[in-house]
Amino acid sequence: MKVDWENWSGSQIHKVKEKKLPHSEDELSEILIQAANQEHTVRTIGSGHSFVPFWTDDTLISLDNMKGLIDCDPENKLATFWAGSKLNEIGDVLWREGLAMENMGDIDRQSIAGAVSTGTHGTGQGLRNISSQIDSLHLMEAGGQLRSINGAGSQKELLDAARVSFGSLGIITQLTLKLVPAYYLHERNWSLSVEACGENLENLINENRHLEFFWDPQADRCLMKSLNVSSQNEEKKISESESVGRSYRIFPTDRDLRFNETEFTVDAEQGWDCFLEIRELIQKKHPKVRWPLEYRTLKADTALLSSTTQKDSVTISAHEGHQRDYQYYFSDVEGIFRQFAARPHWGKIHLYEYGDFQRVMPQFQRFCEIRKQFDPRGRFLNPFLKRIFGID
Ligand SMILES: Cc1cc2nc3c(=O)[nH]c(=O)nc-3n(C[C@H](O)[C@H](O)[C@H](O)COP(=O)(O)OP(=O)(O)OC[C@H]3O[C@@H](n4cnc5c(N)ncnc54)[C@H](O)[C@@H]3O)c2cc1C
Repeated sequence: MKVDWENWSGSQIHKVKEKKLPHSEDELSEILIQAANQEHTVRTIGSGHSFVPFWTDDTLISLDNMKGLIDCDPENKLATFWAGSKLNEIGDVLWREGLAMENMGDIDRQSIAGAVSTGTHGTGQGLRNISSQIDSLHLMEAGGQLRSINGAGSQKELLDAARVSFGSLGIITQLTLKLVPAYYLHERNWSLSVEACGENLENLINENRHLEFFWDPQADRCLMKSLNVSSQNEEKKISESESVGRSYRIFPTDRDLRFNETEFTVDAEQGWDCFLEIRELIQKKHPKVRWPLEYRTLKADTALLSSTTQKDSVTISAHEGHQRDYQYYFSDVEGIFRQFAARPHWGKIHLYEYGDFQRVMPQFQRFCEIRKQFDPRGRFLNPFLKRIFGID
């Protein structure tokens, strides 16, 4: 079979009827009108770094021709980008204006719109996911009409719905980011036993702007990583485990080996207990797993579908090599997450359905109502999303 498109991990493959790369909002509008006439499902690709079946064999749209800075207002620390811009293309642009993103995740290959749309996040108990850095956006609806959503007054709920909506309300064409003054970060990596990690975790989380750890199941040790704002304003490798650099260069790491991933969010106070249960599961039932568990913290958020809506959280993710079967392992891990009423990351593998989301996400029903108003004919819904939204 000829493959027209596949995601980063190779788990999602599509032979599409049409792949469109518009250069402007007007062109995108035309494409949506034509797709509606043909009764096509329309889905948008960012960088294809999500692991779940977000896409379609009908009309696939990429905004790779809609990239770059539209406007920058350094005084108010705002910058507007075309939604197809990749995170690794905006750091230098912002730095020249004396600005930077407050927080970023493990990599910077994602498109801004894709990262925002799934609630992608970094770590830091005082920091929220990337979608929280959005001040306003342009959203194109299924009929080709463009809406500007700025989050002020009565539009606040709309922005809270649109910023984490994985293309189910419409296609984001422009995003305005709320930024902070450019800063350097000091990175430190070290290793701890699980016992020492557990004893010190609360202090470490409180003392560091960003704290995370990777648990290595084979060594049964925790590889700790902290990031803090540095007063040294130059890039410097201090040692093998310590360095200083511009924030947007320190946040991302290389992920050369491909994998599949599942991730859930639990209440901040329950994070460590949940981690210990998953560790025990791996040691007893999946002793051959070599890929780490990743443990991060996040502050409560207001996006309707954010995995951290209304609660300070810990996120825990499990990985498996891209050519290995992951279903059995991930569904066992998910069984533990379910006991903690955990919420899945939208871009990562999970088996949750409509009823599960109603149970764990306080604003899920409200989002479903808004989605129906935006896209009553379900133009942006494929079978996977219909399962999530409980639509036959
Ligand atoms: C190696 C690797 C590392 C990762 N690290 C992290 C991490 O540190 N933290 C974290 O939280 N996640 C992480 N992820 C997950 C990743 O950030 C998310 O899956 C993210 O959504 C991917 O962005 P993307 O541009 O590839 O979007 P895609 O995967 O292409 O799309 C994601 C969703 O956004 C929608 N979308 C894309 N563009 C638009 C648009 N213009 N308008 C409306 N909807 C749109 C798509 O339709 C889809 O539903 C990682 C994934 C990988 C593969």
